[in-house]
Amino acid sequence: MAATNQDEQQTTTQALRHQEVGHKSLLQSDELYQYILETSVYPREPESMKELREITANHPWNIMTTSADEGQFLNMLLKLINAKNTMEIGVYTGYSLLATALALPDDGKILAMDINKENYELGLPVIQKAGVAHKIEFREGPAMPVLDQMVEDKKFHGSYDFIFVDADKDNYINYHKRLIDLVKIGGVIGYDNTLWNGSVVAPADAPMRKYVRYYRDFVIELNKALAADPRIEICQLPVGDGITLCRRVS
Ligand code: SAM
Ligand code: CA
Repeated sequence: MAATNQDEQQTTTQALRHQEVGHKSLLQSDELYQYILETSVYPREPESMKELREITANHPWNIMTTSADEGQFLNMLLKLINAKNTMEIGVYTGYSLLATALALPDDGKILAMDINKENYELGLPVIQKAGVAHKIEFREGPAMPVLDQMVEDKKFHGSYDFIFVDADKDNYINYHKRLIDLVKIGGVIGYDNTLWNGSVVAPADAPMRKYVRYYRDFVIELNKALAADPRIEICQLPVGDGITLCRRVS
């Protein structure tokens, strides 16, 4: 009887934890998320991605990494759209970058930007071992000046098949103003974390971690702006922390 009570209590605690604003999974329960990982994701995860995920798990900022199910989704999406020329803003240790690099053809390209090179270098040996490092051009520094330069030069206009944005959430709208020129018509921009730990629907006075509260209004504004932008078709998916795919139509 005691065991049953304990089990019930554990289930209730888990359910409450799951409902907490700032909890990572947006699914109905932790068990369901675990089911997806164990049934469909981990058994098919390339060895190199597993290795990079394990290295990243030991890093103090590991909360920033792309989840394994989202990595699998990105890899599939890139193959479906036959992406060749891509960009990533926000690399960290490179899990989404590796998912991308593995999906591209051998002559595929990724312009990868991050203000922090140290974290990229943590994952780089794994990317090299996987034989896909030659597809990556890493630029250390803020992405905005690079985008500004590219927008100035017409040769970059409409040249990207896919762009993954996973960096400073308070700049997403500013990135969008530039990226819309750089992605080709029919190409896709993916904005990550657009459900922002579920906080987009939390009451303003709900308890939230400081960084969740800080970026929340920017994410809410971005979601409204993307929904109102006639130059794109959109699809917001509850994968990872929410990803909004924007297909440029004009
Ligand atoms: N996509 C990564 C992955 O799969 O692990 C996670 C990226 S992490 C959520 C966000 C990254 O954006 C951090 O590594 C941070 O250094 C970078 N970042 C923050 N501001 C930036 C900026 N202005 N330009 C470029 N990168 C930036
Ligand atoms: Ca992310």
